[in-house]
Amino acid sequence: GPGYGKPKAKRWDHRLTLESLARKPSSLKGAQKYLSNPEVEGLISLGGGLPSSQYFPFQNIDIKVPVPPHFSEQEVKESGIVKRTGKHDIAEGKSIYDIHVALNYGQSTGSAQILRFVTEHTEIVHNPPYKDWQCSMTVGSTSALDMAYRMFCTRGEYMLTEEYTFSTAAETVRPMGVKCIGVKMDEQGLLPSDLDSILSNWNSAARNGAHKPWLLYTVPSGQNPTGATQSKQRREEIYRMAQKHDIYILEDEPYYFLQMQPYTGPNAPDVPPPSSHSAFIDALVPSLLSMDIDGRVMRMDSFSKVIAPGVRVGWITASEQIIERFVRHSEVSTQNPSGTSQLLMFKLLEETWGHAGYLDWLIYIRLEYTKRRDNICYACEKYLPREVASWNPPMAGMFHWMKIDWQKYPSKEGKSMLEIEDEIFHAAIDKGTLTSKGSWFRAETDNPGNDMFFRTTFAAAPPDQVGQAIERFGSALRAVFRLEE
Ligand code: PLP
Repeated sequence: GPGYGKPKAKRWDHRLTLESLARKPSSLKGAQKYLSNPEVEGLISLGGGLPSSQYFPFQNIDIKVPVPPHFSEQEVKESGIVKRTGKHDIAEGKSIYDIHVALNYGQSTGSAQILRFVTEHTEIVHNPPYKDWQCSMTVGSTSALDMAYRMFCTRGEYMLTEEYTFSTAAETVRPMGVKCIGVKMDEQGLLPSDLDSILSNWNSAARNGAHKPWLLYTVPSGQNPTGATQSKQRREEIYRMAQKHDIYILEDEPYYFLQMQPYTGPNAPDVPPPSSHSAFIDALVPSLLSMDIDGRVMRMDSFSKVIAPGVRVGWITASEQIIERFVRHSEVSTQNPSGTSQLLMFKLLEETWGHAGYLDWLIYIRLEYTKRRDNICYACEKYLPREVASWNPPMAGMFHWMKIDWQKYPSKEGKSMLEIEDEIFHAAIDKGTLTSKGSWFRAETDNPGNDMFFRTTFAAAPPDQVGQAIERFGSALRAVFRLEE
């Protein structure tokens, strides 16, 4: 198996909340095991409250999907294939998964068929270096993170994260009475040295008795909102720091496969696309999970950004102990991803694409996002006033993060940074461009920092409209800073 010859993960009993430790197996889900026990022949279940699929009013589901490498919308129309799922495909020997199973109650790790696919995929891409790693399906990373917080966070304590962070991640944990500590960042994301200094100098008395933080929430690739991507070396340093301070890491990676081709600028040739699946995997920055010899990482993967957010399917990877606690919580909350979604994902990934086809798809997405990223960067180079705007071309994700030198505001007296940010934000709306304010993403709500940023995304609008929107934003900046057009 994937764990052969590797060490076992560390235990995290000292980190789990009372709530998580108190969870018992669901009595109803637990009874399931008697049904799969081959020693008891002919057992008739009057136990579990599973409705009979006889009354599911869905006889079959047809989906039209692309066949690698013909992925564009136009090609799918012409050469896509229709996959049909019937209600009783298993009994009829047509498939190992069907409507009668997918649409009934299932195990809280998710359907075994799709779980196997993501576990194999995780082994191909990350090959976690400890023995007892496992995956469990989730209804996306928003839910997985909410559940992880309830496993690890206690009111009155602190959590570590990037100083600008995914706002939902902070907005989920704050009402639980947990404050975020923002770790300083550079263009490669969070700084291990600042992490070390926060933890080495922690003063509980000055923090209402809160313990030294030991939970780190991080988005290593194409971070939301900064677009920063941690290099391999940066990740190794962060992992070493986690070992030094016994940190548990929540690695949230919805943008991992939106790592793009290197940015070469408008006047240089593009870098040739990956020539093989292994060249593609080698071109990805290795994950924290792939370095996790201690089992101190819970990685959250999501199909939202690479397939579709509305399917609400993702998965986590962590040690057996952590997965078991997570599943105890799933049993009494989400149960498992929607059966329809699991069925669609199975038909697409396992029965149409296989691992090779899925990697082809991910390469396709990489090249598409590269075009979009290049487009927004060219527009910025063309339209933004360099006197006040600066940026790094993002290497992953869907965000372009612009720094605004607000000190150059013409009549600064009496205006705070946040007021000037608000003025720019509204000036841009008046010109017809909606952006996100950097201040919305501050990890520490009472500390606005000294710098001003705006976040834009190149994922949504068509490329020509992105160009137009950046031109308008440039014109708004010129108006606010009284620069020549
Ligand atoms: N994590 C980060 C960093 C995100 O930016 C997003 C979406 O914007 C999510 C998680 C949400 O993922 P999901 O759709 O899987 O809940």
